[in-house]
Amino acid sequence: MTLALNGIGVSAGTAIGRAHLLQGNRLEIVAITLPVDALDAEIARFEQALDAARCELRAILDQIPHSTPADIRAFIDTHMLMMEDPSITQAPMEHIRTLACNAEWALQIQRDALCRVFDEMDDPYLRTRKDDVDHVIRRVQRLLIQANPPQSESAPHSLHGRIILADDLAPADTLWMQHQGIAGFVTEFGGPMSHTAILARSLDIPAVVGVHGLGRYIREGEELVVDGHNGQVLTGLDVRTRQYYEQSIRREQERRAALHSLIDAPTETQDGLSVQLLANIELPNELDRIHEVGAEGVGLYRTEFLFMNRTEAPDEDEQFEVYLRVVKALEGRPVHIRTLDLGADKSVDGSGPVSVNPALGLRAIRLCLQEADGLFRPQIRAILRAAAHGPVRLMLPMLSQINEVRQARRIIEEEKAELERRGEHFDRHIAIGGMIEVPAAALAARCFVRELDFLSIGTNDLIQYTLAVDRMDDEVNYLYDPLHPAVLELIRTVIEAGTAAGIPVAMCGEMAGDPRYTRLLLAMGLQTFSMHPTAMLEIKNVITCTDVEETRRSGITCLDSMDPDSVNAWVERLNQDLP
Ligand code: PEP
Ligand code: MG
Repeated sequence: MTLALNGIGVSAGTAIGRAHLLQGNRLEIVAITLPVDALDAEIARFEQALDAARCELRAILDQIPHSTPADIRAFIDTHMLMMEDPSITQAPMEHIRTLACNAEWALQIQRDALCRVFDEMDDPYLRTRKDDVDHVIRRVQRLLIQANPPQSESAPHSLHGRIILADDLAPADTLWMQHQGIAGFVTEFGGPMSHTAILARSLDIPAVVGVHGLGRYIREGEELVVDGHNGQVLTGLDVRTRQYYEQSIRREQERRAALHSLIDAPTETQDGLSVQLLANIELPNELDRIHEVGAEGVGLYRTEFLFMNRTEAPDEDEQFEVYLRVVKALEGRPVHIRTLDLGADKSVDGSGPVSVNPALGLRAIRLCLQEADGLFRPQIRAILRAAAHGPVRLMLPMLSQINEVRQARRIIEEEKAELERRGEHFDRHIAIGGMIEVPAAALAARCFVRELDFLSIGTNDLIQYTLAVDRMDDEVNYLYDPLHPAVLELIRTVIEAGTAAGIPVAMCGEMAGDPRYTRLLLAMGLQTFSMHPTAMLEIKNVITCTDVEETRRSGITCLDSMDPDSVNAWVERLNQDLP
């Protein structure tokens, strides 16, 4: 009998293959008290394991093909950098000395302390960065207890076509296994924003995460389907289920080939409406992808990644160099640089008081305005200088009060004066826009459009704040609903306010890159979509086969009813003829 296990699909695509359960993925770490005269030897053992872990990562980097995109190699570089950070190299040694304990336990204590810091972060992406801490520390712990590596380094030729099952996977291991030709992977833990999930999307590996109790239901060598679209893993396949998925894989391959032909086509609806497709990026290295899918520019550049994995914020010059690289690589296409969206009562080095409720705490623009001299002003100067070299727009995150716009604008003017005084080149007329991610800002959009040059709707936060649902919390994830009538009402309010004021409104949350919502958003008047580059051709495909006027006529008035069933039924009807 076919059994379906549910999780979170983190990358589109389906695969059929035999299961390979990774052993030793979960390590038993025990505390051992050591005599004082054994501590020096324990510290030496720790240092040797750290060196061995660095060698492992270097070996993985050496063996992955040169064609691997730089942003993907960057995941391993991040882990290598972490292995040089005093929080990993020094702090465990202090624990060994002060607690007279074994190195594995010292690392465990340090892991728990670092993870607590990440847990308090408000930004869902940064919160999942604790996975990196986990992966790095586990690699060293594994070497300390001489456990087998939980990956193909021990079985290099056996993974072709296999579906890997693990508690969790480190990006380095994922990359290695992709090189070995795995068909897909399933993990018991991990969320949609983890590095491994992002990697799976970038590498186009079918993957499902968060499948609780995985090991209880699946045996080594059993045939499985991984359905990354629907977040399902199927076991006990009968003939009909198998045939169904084989056909669906074939259709998927044909569709991908067909989508490729859209790269250079104009993004225009059947009734002649021109739509702008922009990309979201986190690292400048991702710019190659933008060219590959024909994006018209960058709609969201999340600059916080520049500030991560380091103890001090990058200064103005360092930021300028990075932004300039992005501007130059875009060759005249616009980039919307979002000012720092870091937060939850954390300074850059992770110290500082802990907020009672980080999601509602000191983050993004609030943090920037409070730490203007250290964080905001240098970034503003760097952005203004980069803007002298190409079309740069400055975007303020997490606005909730119009006063935040006014304060930010005042600071921007002061920094223009400072650059003027220094005789620097900069863009005096830079466009300043804001992200609408807080319901209050959406409701007050009519006020924001009077003082901003453009808006961008951040649905990831807007949905979580509107519905009071932490989407990283899988206990309440089922309530996270982009089609909730309240969410749609807010989106509509923002689009209407922008249109009435004659300023552009984009959407840069995940909703913009999900083809299920494209026709609905077009009908609501959205004309600029910004998304992860891998989603772009799929969205373009939907746009080019949509008649917006007809879509509107087919039932947009159901939004007025605020009735979720009618809205769902309408959206389903809209998508009926999609491939
Ligand atoms: C959003 O909230 O929709 C958004 C794009 O910002 P981030 O995902 O970086 O919080
Ligand atoms: Mg956001």
